[in-house]
Amino acid sequence: PTNINALADEYLRLSYHGMRAKDKSFNADFKTNFDANLPKVNVIPQDIGRVLLNIINNAFQACAEQSSKGSDPDAYRGLGDFKPIVTVTTKSLGDKIEISISDNGPGIPDAIKDKIFQPFFTTKPTGQGTGLGLSLSYDIIKAQGGELELNSRAGQTTFKIVLKI
Ligand code: ADP
Ligand code: MG
Repeated sequence: PTNINALADEYLRLSYHGMRAKDKSFNADFKTNFDANLPKVNVIPQDIGRVLLNIINNAFQACAEQSSKGSDPDAYRGLGDFKPIVTVTTKSLGDKIEISISDNGPGIPDAIKDKIFQPFFTTKPTGQGTGLGLSLSYDIIKAQGGELELNSRAGQTTFKIVLKI
């Protein structure tokens, strides 16, 4: 049985420090909103950990992209004091649990929403994205009998994972 709160906390920090290590000017906040009574889940920690890391990495990368536009007045007027933030929320749903990862990055355009879970689909520059993160995450969650859902509009993206306990 895996403590998802502890795992999510660890991977959030790992991802954040990974971003900082690659780019010293990277600036973001992260926040947790954990259900203190979240039941443990029967999943392999490395599997669910990989899913969390993929989704959290994407969230920080999306924020970083938004943030770099914020410093370019011609690219993004009025974004002045934009502060990237990634939030991980957990919730008990009786015989299931829900994990949500949200960011305030640019959002995912409707035109590509049905493509992002396909293997090798990426909008990142060559060498920066394999396009495998979400497709792998989807397969791992499905193999656990869980669900992975996307909710995104401009300025707000949330990936929601539901797992049976
Ligand atoms: P990669 O990160 O290597 O590009 P992924 O499978 O992890 O591959 O993601 C696929 C694509 O989904 C990304 O290239 C990006 O266009 C989009 N995406 C994923 N997460 C987010 C997010 N939080 N905000 C905006 N776009 C996202
Ligand atoms: Mg990715």
